[in-house]
Amino acid sequence: MSSEMYDLIIAGAGPAGATAARAAALQGLDTLILEKQTFPRYKPCGGALSSKATAMLDFSLPGSICERAITGARVHFKDRVLEKHKGYKLTTLIDRSRFDDLLLQKAEVAGAEKETQKVMDYSEKDGFVSVKTDKGTYQSRFLVIATGCQDGLRSRIRGRDGRDCMGICLVSDVKEDDEKIRARLADTLDIHFGVAEGGYGWIFPHRGYYSVGIGGISSRLHHPRRAMLQFLRKNGFSERQELHGHQIPQGGNNRRSALGRVLLAGDAAGFVDAFTGEGIYYALASGRIAAQVIGDASAQEADQVYERRCEKEFGAELRYALFFSKMMHRYPETFLRILACQEDVLDRYIEIAAARISYRDFMRWLIPRLPINLLRTL
Ligand SMILES: Cc1cc2nc3c(=O)[nH]c(=O)nc-3n(C[C@H](O)[C@H](O)[C@H](O)COP(=O)(O)OP(=O)(O)OC[C@H]3O[C@@H](n4cnc5c(N)ncnc54)[C@H](O)[C@@H]3O)c2cc1C
Repeated sequence: MSSEMYDLIIAGAGPAGATAARAAALQGLDTLILEKQTFPRYKPCGGALSSKATAMLDFSLPGSICERAITGARVHFKDRVLEKHKGYKLTTLIDRSRFDDLLLQKAEVAGAEKETQKVMDYSEKDGFVSVKTDKGTYQSRFLVIATGCQDGLRSRIRGRDGRDCMGICLVSDVKEDDEKIRARLADTLDIHFGVAEGGYGWIFPHRGYYSVGIGGISSRLHHPRRAMLQFLRKNGFSERQELHGHQIPQGGNNRRSALGRVLLAGDAAGFVDAFTGEGIYYALASGRIAAQVIGDASAQEADQVYERRCEKEFGAELRYALFFSKMMHRYPETFLRILACQEDVLDRYIEIAAARISYRDFMRWLIPRLPINLLRTL
């Protein structure tokens, strides 16, 4: 057992954990990050870094990570295809593996210690947390669990997620010539609704490859592999691709995300947009808030302060996203005939990705226009 008492131990070095580690180390906190995998590691992802996520970074990303600036979206629903472009960047397609590696390097440069170890368990004692890994035991004043949504550590705080609250995704990086990628999609995200129950399929034009994937709610998407192979085939790709499966939280943020000296960040807390699947922004934001709270607050209040600050920063957005996702499941035809088939609606909706408007702004804009939009769907 290490005799050192850290201020903060972080389990998991994805965007949430690495951001928490860097922010804590920059405040002078004695910080240890425990990650089970050796970085750079592959993480199944579409690789879309929204403008609001980019705005969270206090450094610029190198060209080796930023693969394409996206200015438009092409949306398919049944027989309809709609395409909208903006004269500005909506999102950046990144090399996810390099991005995560850079965030971890930044945390280490800021002074965080890193060990490649798997966190197995933890227990809270008087005034500190004891963290057990596959190689040893460590102690700290606080623990941030940022181990994503596939690890069981978080369930002691938020309980188990039912299959209605979890999405399942399959994704593949499909190699292609940049010339062909440019001719097919240029700077456009290609989104296909109706291909996966409770979700969508995507084709994102990276550099030298497409990210092709499908995702839907676990309880409804009974044959994800079959849906993925069909999606590949229908879009002219070979079915012989390496497929990577991963879960994604889709239940919103109505559970506890902190208890005592233990805080959950990123996917571990369920902080993902249930409609689009965007999670990197919420991982960055919650990781940073966790470090700030631990740096500021007294031990008794840290859990409540953390929950309040996350709620204030992005709670409403996650609830709107969940509402959108539920509407899509309940009334798919009507919902998608409005969102994915009406130019002015899509034109306004994609401004959310660019962080020009919030979901709330979008709803305020849409509600007075709903009657006319509903009539248009008839
Ligand atoms: C297919 C797919 C596509 C997606 N596309 C996008 C997208 O385009 N844009 C977007 O914004 N979001 C996207 N997301 C969501 C996004 O990937 C997640 O929200 C984001 O990765 C959350 O970051 P995190 O740090 O919380 O967790 P993760 O990135 O999952 O990192 C968790 C880390 O913890 C480590 N770990 C796990 N257990 C332990 C343990 N016991 N001990 C030590 N270490 C451990 C893991 O090795 C991992 O490195 C996508 C998700 C999926 C599944």
